[in-house]
Amino acid sequence: MATNFAQLSLAPALLAVVDELGYRHPTPIQVESIPLILAGRDLIGQSKTGSGKTAAFALPILQALDVHSRSLQALIICPTRELAAQVAREMRKLGRKHKGLSILELVGGQPVRQQTDALDRGVHIAVGTPGRLLDHLERGTMDCTQLATVVLDEADRMLDMGFGANVERILRAVPKQRQTILFSATFPSTIEAMSRAHQSDALRVTIDDAKHEDSPVEQFFLEVEPSEKLQALYWTLEHYPHESALIFCNFKASVAELAQALSRSGLSVDRLDGDLEQYQRDQVLAKFRNQSTRILIATDVAGRGIDVEDLELVINYELPAKPNTYVHRIGRTGRAGKAGVAVSLATKRERTKLAAIEQVMGTAPERLEHEVGETDVRSLARDAKMATILISGGRKDKVRPGDILGALTGEAGGLEGCDIGKIEIQNRLSYVAVARRHAASAVDSINAGRIKGKRFRASLVS
Ligand code: ADP
Ligand code: MG
Repeated sequence: MATNFAQLSLAPALLAVVDELGYRHPTPIQVESIPLILAGRDLIGQSKTGSGKTAAFALPILQALDVHSRSLQALIICPTRELAAQVAREMRKLGRKHKGLSILELVGGQPVRQQTDALDRGVHIAVGTPGRLLDHLERGTMDCTQLATVVLDEADRMLDMGFGANVERILRAVPKQRQTILFSATFPSTIEAMSRAHQSDALRVTIDDAKHEDSPVEQFFLEVEPSEKLQALYWTLEHYPHESALIFCNFKASVAELAQALSRSGLSVDRLDGDLEQYQRDQVLAKFRNQSTRILIATDVAGRGIDVEDLELVINYELPAKPNTYVHRIGRTGRAGKAGVAVSLATKRERTKLAAIEQVMGTAPERLEHEVGETDVRSLARDAKMATILISGGRKDKVRPGDILGALTGEAGGLEGCDIGKIEIQNRLSYVAVARRHAASAVDSINAGRIKGKRFRASLVS
């Protein structure tokens, strides 16, 4: 029988929140980790992407938090800005019954001064990237005397990205008497060394989904000649109907080339690579998350931290050099128990890569037989159902999802609730998805009207 959240000794307020969010059962990593973290133990938690690791540490941290003391009590270190933003978002969601809770993002690319001011006013939880966190620690702008818990989220990626030294310096700078939690999708020996150096009596929890028979991701591969790849991709897109698909390439040059080819064929596609400015990345991700773009093409580095609900299809247009990268890529589909499909295009010369993947996964992707050149690309050219509107106000302007919904529906906006999709509120701006055919009128009504008595600018994100 599945464990319930109620069996994990969580406070009634947190149980109410998980219930409101529709989390029926804790995921295996949550079942194993939550009691240990509540008991104050150091922990190494390992499970695949999408298995609910954020809530696994967020729930016990929120439970132990003293909201009345305006001191920094927990620090979450993440490899990228996007992941920090996601973790902060999830923690705010889970902490919504903690009145007065303050969670601060401390990431690069934003003015240090604003962050320092916020720290001065007092925050309970800081979520940040290694460089900026270290910056604050070294400037003495972050008071850690009451810090009880430090989490290294996606520890393996932080090491992969070369943040090991910074993370170590952070750990040396914070109080020794603390709980240290380390989450990772894989467990290389470098993680073990970090654990030995910075944790005490750490317990290890491993959820071996990868080798589980009923892994929710079905994996396939197509053996192709390099010259047939594009056709094989079209075939895959046609045979695996999807609302959203994520395509990985190994290099940003291939991302650009493929994006161009697909958009020339009329497909709804966007690309994500290291060359984009931060605000462009944010827009691309917001559009993909809210179904304004159906296909996203990314490199591994740029694709880190993509968290999309209902992602049905991941395609490896190019197989990665390392099998662990493959595990990360396909972990983006089939999240939280939903079925997903991963299709890889492999040339004959890449059979060794497939063999290495089989070793890591415990199962081999299944070979698909297909006829090349049979896909009518026009059948794939279909607009996304939604379009994204950028509004010039966010959390700091006290804009809430309900306000935007109110401005777009009823007499004010004239749209039906069902024409409005995901509403994402950021600090100073918001993204809202609107049914494509109503996008222009929605922009007009926001520009003509007011939200919370204030005027904001709205524009279509193309
Ligand atoms: P990970 O850190 O392991 O990659 P996340 O913490 O990002 O995974 O969770 C993936 C998704 O699953 C998120 O959208 C999250 O809200 C959702 N989720 C987390 N726990 C549960 C649960 N117990 N039931 C249903 N969905 C959950
Ligand atoms: Mg995570």
